Amino acid sequence: MKSIILVNALLLVISALIVPGVNLAHAEQSKAPDIKEYGTDPARYFVPKTAIDTTDVPNIVLKSSAKDTDLLPYYKIAPGTYLFFGNIAQIDQFNRGWNGNAGFVVTSEGVVVIDSLGTPRLGRRMIATIRSITDKPIKYLIITHNHPDHSYGAIAFRDLGGVKVISHAGALDYINSNKIDNSVDFRRSIIKQDMTGFAAVAPDIPITGKLYSSYKLKLGNKTFEIYNTGKHHSYGDLVVFQANEKIVWISDLAFNQRTTFMGDGNSRQAIKAQEWLLTKFSGTKLMVPGHGSAQTAPFPMVRKTRDYMKRLRSTLNQAMANDLDLLEAVDQADFKDWRNIRLYGLNQRANANFVYRELEQENF
Ligand SMILES: [Zn+2]
Repeated sequence: MKSIILVNALLLVISALIVPGVNLAHAEQSKAPDIKEYGTDPARYFVPKTAIDTTDVPNIVLKSSAKDTDLLPYYKIAPGTYLFFGNIAQIDQFNRGWNGNAGFVVTSEGVVVIDSLGTPRLGRRMIATIRSITDKPIKYLIITHNHPDHSYGAIAFRDLGGVKVISHAGALDYINSNKIDNSVDFRRSIIKQDMTGFAAVAPDIPITGKLYSSYKLKLGNKTFEIYNTGKHHSYGDLVVFQANEKIVWISDLAFNQRTTFMGDGNSRQAIKAQEWLLTKFSGTKLMVPGHGSAQTAPFPMVRKTRDYMKRLRSTLNQAMANDLDLLEAVDQADFKDWRNIRLYGLNQRANANFVYRELEQENF
C-alpha cells in the first residue's frame, strides 16, 4: 500500500515549527546519555516520506509558543484514514509529549478519532488538523489505553462537546489511582504550558465483556470493531479493527522501531494477545501500532515484540532457577542484539525488573 504524502503541503507549517540552533537546555540533557539518545534533536526537523514500512524515524520539534490552531504533520494512509506518526522517543521539551501515534477516520457521517496524543495542547492541535481536512463533526474518540502518550489529549475532545469517548472500563481504575497524579506531575515538570487545562476523561462508553469480544461501532459508511484485549499493557487495552479498509489499530500490543515498555499489564497476557492478533488478523492489510511506523503483512513487529517478551521471561525464569536475586537477574537480562534498538537502554532494566516481579508472583 502506498501512502499519500501530505507533508510537502505542510512545509510552511513545518518550517514555522523548527527550533533553530541548539537550545541551552540540551547541554544540560547531555549529562544523561539515555535522554540524549532517545530524546529529540532540537537542531533537526525531520518527517519521514512515508509512515508505512519505513525505517526512518520522525524528529518533530515543537515550540512551547505554538498555538492550539497550528496544524500537526499527518499522513493519509488509506481512503479517509489519517495517521499522526509521532517521534519514537521519550518525552522531552522538544517533542513536547508527542512520542506516540494517533489517527482518525473520516466517514460519511462524521469523524472517529483513535487516541489523543500526550497533552491537552496536542489534542487541540489534532482537532485543528482534523478541521483542516473535513468539516464533518467529530463524533467518537476511542482511547486504546490510558497511558499518558495516548490519552492526555482527550480533554480537548471532551471540551469540544458532542464527542463520545470510548475506552476500556479499566481506564476508570487508572483515573482513580495515584499513578495518574504522579504521571501528570511528571509531564507538568517538563512541558507545563502544554498541560494547561488537563483533566482525566472518563469513558461515555466503557468497554467491558469477555476477553477478545468486540463492540461494534458503525458511523456512516464505516464500521469499527473494538476488541477488549484485556490488561496486557495497562489498566485496560483495546485493539480497533477498521473493517472497510482492513486496518488494525493495535495500540501498544506490539511496538515498531523501538523496544517495548512494560510497567503495567501482564507479559503472559501480552504474549497470548499477540498470538491472537497474528491469528485473527493475518489477512489484514495494515497494522498501526501506538509507536513506530505502520506495517504491512506479515507484521514482523508483532513477532519481534512477542519474541522479546518470551526471551525476557525465559531468561529471568532461568536466573531465578539459578537463585539469582533481582539485581543479578536484571544484570543478566541484557540482550546484545537489542542494544541498537531505540529505547532499549532506557527500558530494558525496568522491563526485566517488572518481569522478575511477575515471575515471583506466578511461582509463589
Ligand atoms: Zn504508548
